[in-house]
Amino acid sequence: MNKPVGLLTLQGDYEKHQQAFGHLGVETLAVRRPAELDEVCALVIPGGESTTLTRLMDRIGLRQPLLDFAVDHPVMGTCAGLIMMCSGLVDEKNSDFGVEPLGLLDCLVRRNGYGRQIDSFTAPVGIDVLDGSLANFDAIFIRAPRIVEVGTQADVVAVHGTEPVAVRQGNLLGLAFHPELTADGRIHQAFLEII
Ligand code: GLN
Repeated sequence: MNKPVGLLTLQGDYEKHQQAFGHLGVETLAVRRPAELDEVCALVIPGGESTTLTRLMDRIGLRQPLLDFAVDHPVMGTCAGLIMMCSGLVDEKNSDFGVEPLGLLDCLVRRNGYGRQIDSFTAPVGIDVLDGSLANFDAIFIRAPRIVEVGTQADVVAVHGTEPVAVRQGNLLGLAFHPELTADGRIHQAFLEII
């Protein structure tokens, strides 16, 4: 890994990802402009607000550069980041501030599909990012997207109960929860191994 890991810092809780990689001794670099993608080996799209992420991404002209980057670099989206990576949304009301996902992961999600902020919860999940499964990861769900359909291109790599909560499609990983909010660095470590 001869370049830092990029963090999309348009909005959201990117600092927590910076800390998580920092604990693993891995350097990160803020990505806000297309040219900064040339300086990183991978990218994290953090949680936050997908409406705002959509608006800023399109205003800055990052959409196509991100799609090009994702062809041959690892990208991990957490919570709102998963929403940005999915192929489509269900039950979304049309509004001027709508979310326009990138369509990188073959799955459909429902925003806030587990309820509102007060319905946030933590649950132990097993996640199979690479070959070995990571057991009992304390997954924190905050106004999390619900993955309601997974297409043939993507693999489910974590479930909560019977429902998928993380998908992987080659070099792309989308999580409904927030691995950066726990001291458990195993998912960030596994992401580095995709790199
Ligand atoms: N509900 C937010 C959205 O729709 C995501 C919440 C989060 O990232 N914690 O974008």
